[in-house]
Amino acid sequence: MIILSSILANWLTKKIIVPINNLNLENPLSNDVYDELSPLLNRMSKQNNQIESQFKMLMEKQLEFNAITENISEGIIVLNSKGQVLSINKSAADIFGVNATYNINKHILTLNRSLTLQKAVRTALDGNNFEDVFSKGKKTYHLLASPVMSDNPVKGIILFVLDITERQNAEKMRREFSANVSHELKTPLTTISGYAELLKNGMVKNKDVAEFSGRILDEAGHLINLVDDIIRISRLDEKNIKLSFESVDLLELAQDVVSRLMPSAHKKNITIHVTGDHAILSGVKQILDEMVYNLCDNAIKYNYDFGKVDVIVSNTPEKIILSVKDNGVGISKEHQYRVFERFYRIDKSHSKDTGGTGLGLAIVKHSAEFHNAKIQLESEPEKGTTISIIFNKNN
Ligand code: ADP
Repeated sequence: MIILSSILANWLTKKIIVPINNLNLENPLSNDVYDELSPLLNRMSKQNNQIESQFKMLMEKQLEFNAITENISEGIIVLNSKGQVLSINKSAADIFGVNATYNINKHILTLNRSLTLQKAVRTALDGNNFEDVFSKGKKTYHLLASPVMSDNPVKGIILFVLDITERQNAEKMRREFSANVSHELKTPLTTISGYAELLKNGMVKNKDVAEFSGRILDEAGHLINLVDDIIRISRLDEKNIKLSFESVDLLELAQDVVSRLMPSAHKKNITIHVTGDHAILSGVKQILDEMVYNLCDNAIKYNYDFGKVDVIVSNTPEKIILSVKDNGVGISKEHQYRVFERFYRIDKSHSKDTGGTGLGLAIVKHSAEFHNAKIQLESEPEKGTTISIIFNKNN
């Protein structure tokens, strides 16, 4: 009996167990086994196909998600419910200065330990949305955290990190500009109203009336210049204004500007010449005119009597360069990088005496940027200044 059952067990192992153990599970239909196993193998094969196609679909979705998130400038981080990184796009990795793949599965706080980030994760894990601003280095970011929920427990968190440095700087500049404009407008208005009051109350001797009226006129003139310059610079600030580009000959434009400035040059016995090549560029004539006018006007204003101003236009295969060169008072090194700022003047009283608004070079800078041109300044105190506008023909 024992012998019989051992033979049966042996037979069962050989005929039934061994074929099962040797099954090729990767490719169930390729197995040559007894018929009773066929339904099982068919099902396995079907399930294998199903798993394969679902896996393919998931991979495609993952690739699609990566392709979208990798190419957007906002940082996106997906966390699980433990706060570990499931996915981090390139922008977010760049913002936190980490390697995107290296940080998968690590806790978010290993990327950055800022209190804002900790608070964002905690708030989102409690099921609430969070948004705040945080700084890193010289940059400012807007952080948004949203919980991912199915029914109630939080399954994960999505973090969005937006670089708002430029927007904040622009807002700061606008605030400073408004404060400066108010201040600059107030000064001549206060003077005008002071003189007008004295005249109205009969407190000015007859012989001084002409002088007082003259001062009112000067201040009013300064006010008009100021308002004109503010309008010009505000128009340049409006990045999407529609201005028509046309072909402009820079040499002819410079000649025209200089002819209009001849009277002020003559007053100081300054000689002013335009030389160089004809150079046609595509630009907005009015803006180019204001730019060249401001440069030549400064070269006269900040020059000595009997000084010299040269406007040179050169046309090379790659570039068109307009240089305004004077042998006037010059600009010392410490002021050179600031003179293009709005309302920056080296000698405030001299600038005002000569009708300056402090906006001339800011208008030049914006006009050059508007035409994708670069500015170069070379200057030496008491020797003179050369400011060049370099237009790249390949732009
Ligand atoms: P402003 O209306 O006062 O002339 P700008 O923006 O045109 O304002 O110039 C800023 C400052 O830069 C001036 O106040 C002046 O001190 C200096 N500056 C500009 N151009 C020259 C120049 N060609 N030579 C010397 N100093 C200059």
